[in-house]
Amino acid sequence: MNLYPWQHHDWQQLQNYIVQQRVPQALLINGALGIGKQQLAEQFAHALLCNRPQSTGLSCGQCSSCLLIKAQTHPDFMDVQPEEVGKNITIAQIRTLMEKLNLKPQFERYRAILIHPADALNNAAANAFLKYLEEPTERTVLILVTHRMNKLPATIKSRCQKFTLAMPDKNLVLPWLAQQSTAENAEIVLNLAQGSPLLAQQYATDEHLMQRRDCFNAWLSIARQQSHPVIVAEQWLKLPETTLLFWLSSWVIDLMRYRHQTAPRNLYHADLKMALSELAPHLNPIKLYEFYDLLLQSRRRLETQINKQVLWEEILISWALLNRR
Ligand SMILES: [Zn+2]
Repeated sequence: MNLYPWQHHDWQQLQNYIVQQRVPQALLINGALGIGKQQLAEQFAHALLCNRPQSTGLSCGQCSSCLLIKAQTHPDFMDVQPEEVGKNITIAQIRTLMEKLNLKPQFERYRAILIHPADALNNAAANAFLKYLEEPTERTVLILVTHRMNKLPATIKSRCQKFTLAMPDKNLVLPWLAQQSTAENAEIVLNLAQGSPLLAQQYATDEHLMQRRDCFNAWLSIARQQSHPVIVAEQWLKLPETTLLFWLSSWVIDLMRYRHQTAPRNLYHADLKMALSELAPHLNPIKLYEFYDLLLQSRRRLETQINKQVLWEEILISWALLNRR
């Protein structure tokens, strides 16, 4: 596995840790969802273990160490993740890890432990972990990965060297995305994924774009007084609410941009510009900002125990009123 085209600069920095022999004992790789943190962390772990790294610092893929990694039997490599997606890393998993960490690495090079997502460490696991970080074993590198820094205990954060990945440069992502069989939609899906390449790759499936189109049509028909907000609200209960709320907010942003005559390529939904141009001139700009504000508040309310039917009704009724002529 190679690096993604937008990762070369970050890789350079990681490689420097090895070249300059100042590899941190605990490295916390963080950044937005879907930018390839996990792949970068794996590359780093493999490079630490490889006997004959390439000139780029990446692992060779052929030495005895690399072969052991491929066979998932390298004694100095451990990959710790929740046993089920979305669950915590258990204290039992951490105990097994600690027992292993008490011994020296088996080979001459480093030992690498990958922990992801690091925010899945529960309190008990985090405490055991902290104890280890106070007295770490030689040549051992813990690599933690997370896109939710705020969920990580401050005590852990403060003991790790932070390595923060920026949002990838669009100019490096678009050519890559176009190669992933999404040539026509590359720019649209990247906008929908708010710049996250791997999320965009996932969105490039027809289903995601079709679902967005269906929702947009329903939203449009409310504006044209052809659909009832309460009925649409009920249909929307099945959909993932954060995605839906992002679509709504970005449609409104596009409407605002349309009023300011932004170039179509800077719209989130350039492919919907005809319909947006039909709506934009009839909307009161102050009321549109108020509606946008309602969407922002709704994002916060989604984190509470809100009744979602009521939430969508409130949003869609406001939207219908906004479009009344
Ligand atoms: Zn190798």
